[in-house]
Amino acid sequence: MEHSTIAAIATPGGRGGIGIVKISGSKALSIASAIFSPVHSPSSINPDPLGSEKNGFGDAKSSHQLYYGHIVDRVEQRVLDEVLLSVMKAPRSYTREDVIEINAHGGPVALNAILELVLRQGARIAEPGEFTKRAFLNGRIDLAQAEAVIDVINARSQKSLQMAAAQINGRLSQAINKIQQRLVDLLTRIEAGIDFPDDVPELIDPATVTAGIQADVINPLEDLIQRHLNGNPLRDGLKVAVVGRPNVGKSSLLNCLVQKERVIVTDVPGTTRDTIEENFNIDGFPMVIADTAGMHDTADPIESVGIQKTIENAKDADLILFMVEANRDLTADDHIIYRKFQSQPTLILMNKIDLVKPGRVTELPVEWGSRQCLKISALYGHGIEALKEQIVATAFGKNPIDIESGIVPNLRQKLLLEDSLTASRAVCREVNNGLPMELIAIQLQDAIDALGQILGANVKVDILEQIFSRFCIGK
Ligand code: GDP
Repeated sequence: MEHSTIAAIATPGGRGGIGIVKISGSKALSIASAIFSPVHSPSSINPDPLGSEKNGFGDAKSSHQLYYGHIVDRVEQRVLDEVLLSVMKAPRSYTREDVIEINAHGGPVALNAILELVLRQGARIAEPGEFTKRAFLNGRIDLAQAEAVIDVINARSQKSLQMAAAQINGRLSQAINKIQQRLVDLLTRIEAGIDFPDDVPELIDPATVTAGIQADVINPLEDLIQRHLNGNPLRDGLKVAVVGRPNVGKSSLLNCLVQKERVIVTDVPGTTRDTIEENFNIDGFPMVIADTAGMHDTADPIESVGIQKTIENAKDADLILFMVEANRDLTADDHIIYRKFQSQPTLILMNKIDLVKPGRVTELPVEWGSRQCLKISALYGHGIEALKEQIVATAFGKNPIDIESGIVPNLRQKLLLEDSLTASRAVCREVNNGLPMELIAIQLQDAIDALGQILGANVKVDILEQIFSRFCIGK
């Protein structure tokens, strides 16, 4: 176990009302004593913060208390800032080590000066996510909960935040523990069967075992994997791609949805040559929208690279917004584009409805009839609210996510769930086929280990590094 004391500025860079320097480790309290000079009564002014090294704080620092005073550099004889300092003694702290948080004024110069002072007293600078890594290594949270902390920090919208916050409480971990326990029970019986072969018929009845695995392992694992598929867009943002011929109004729609003039709108076809991605949210659902180079045959080499990228980019979108002009007949290019994306969830948008005389809307081919079609004006904002509702309904409506449940595995977790599922299915097959208990035990162990890795058991060091490197410094 790592014993060094770590420190970092926990608040974002730049100026702010408050900035926090955080210290964790066995030297945290002595460092605080060395650099902090308390004001003992809230109404009294510290007459001489630099006065005595024995300032009484060293004896008084009881846990979960807030102290008011000054950070002082006794060597340079300088007062650095007026602060509130909180003390959280081990094990009742985020890392389960002694933790000090210094709430200082939030200017980068002041915060860096305090951090430097802390480092001079024997702490080292924390790596990204190292406080949370210690919370995990010291057993306060499991790996799934640590990953939820990253999700809270990176939350793109209200709904993403709600989901991640629920996950910190360990609901996913509980669900996995329950499945794992069932597998461990079976493994215990199988091992008994290996030791006492005569008792196998009573210990392991194939029909009961497979029914039990199906109900308590396979079904819940499938449910968790489905929760990943339904809920992951909440974490990463639903990827929406706007496709269509040049000049149909794609950039105008993007501007309208994200409410910024980020994309240059012109009436020269081919203005948007590259793919532009924007984050926004609809009713708290996070979206990533890609506006794309208009798709049509072109001799311009730069534009054709853009078009190629568009196709690649839109191929893995969760939802395609296919735009045509309501005031013009469809062209061959419209049909080509439709066919390129026909296997993906698509909404057809008939844009420029403001230019259409009553009763003269372009007719769509019958074979497009299975798609939802909306009439909009990206320029004047007509139909945009209905479009937003339809995007949410198409993306999340069919598979409503129980956000409050806090059970939405991430990709790493989903892959391990799949490993566990594959091994559990193999266990059922092998039990049914009467294979040797030793073989079944190996499969069972694989199913158990995969679940263990979700919670952090026997996870390889490089995977841990990778997970925690996604954190910011100071968390
Ligand atoms: P893109 O090439 O598909 O991205 O198309 P743009 O968004 O650049 O729009 C092309 C032209 O169509 C611009 O002059 C827009 O102002 C115009 N336009 C876009 N949407 C509408 C609309 O709903 N109504 C009208 N009248 N013009 C629009």
